Amino acid sequence: MVGCIHGDEPAGIAVTRALRRLPGTPGARLILVDELNPDGRRAGARQNARGVDLNRNFSVGFRRSGRRGETFYSGPRPFSEPETRALRSLVLRERPTVTIWFHQHLNLVDLSGGNAGLERRFARRIGLRAVRLAPLAGTATRWQNRRLAHTSAFVVELPAGAARPGLRVRLLAAIRALEGHRARSRAAGTRRPAAAF
Ligand SMILES: [Zn+2]
Repeated sequence: MVGCIHGDEPAGIAVTRALRRLPGTPGARLILVDELNPDGRRAGARQNARGVDLNRNFSVGFRRSGRRGETFYSGPRPFSEPETRALRSLVLRERPTVTIWFHQHLNLVDLSGGNAGLERRFARRIGLRAVRLAPLAGTATRWQNRRLAHTSAFVVELPAGAARPGLRVRLLAAIRALEGHRARSRAAGTRRPAAAF
């Protein structure tokens, strides 16, 4: 779970931090990245310190666009940034079955190309609508869903501002349910998250 990739969209950090304080679920492992873009977060900027939109810097569908500091600057080439390279190493080493990327402020779950059934059910549990947004160039979710078969990486777009307590509670419960489901799937010997979540 990645709490923040765009430094001016930080609401997910409270979710990853809250999860870290809770006891884990036996049989499931949660990997929490509070901030993939600490420099942007500190500056209150979308981009990293080199002016790159990290969520345009992944390799699948990469399209060179913009200039340094512009809103959607892709960077000169895929994985040109230390943050995206670090994330790539982490994902390829750990091969997470499900990855949630928090963004703001669209207030929806984007069916981002992984397991649409799972993403829809997650949206229903947290009370946000599920929408299939047009795929963007060079995003983390596109890269993950292409690179690792049978896994699901998707975007939760939180509303503007800090996540309200009700939404936060629903998010924690949905993530716990997902972990419980994952643990049962693993016990049953299947890697693919089954439809029952
Ligand atoms: Zn974003």
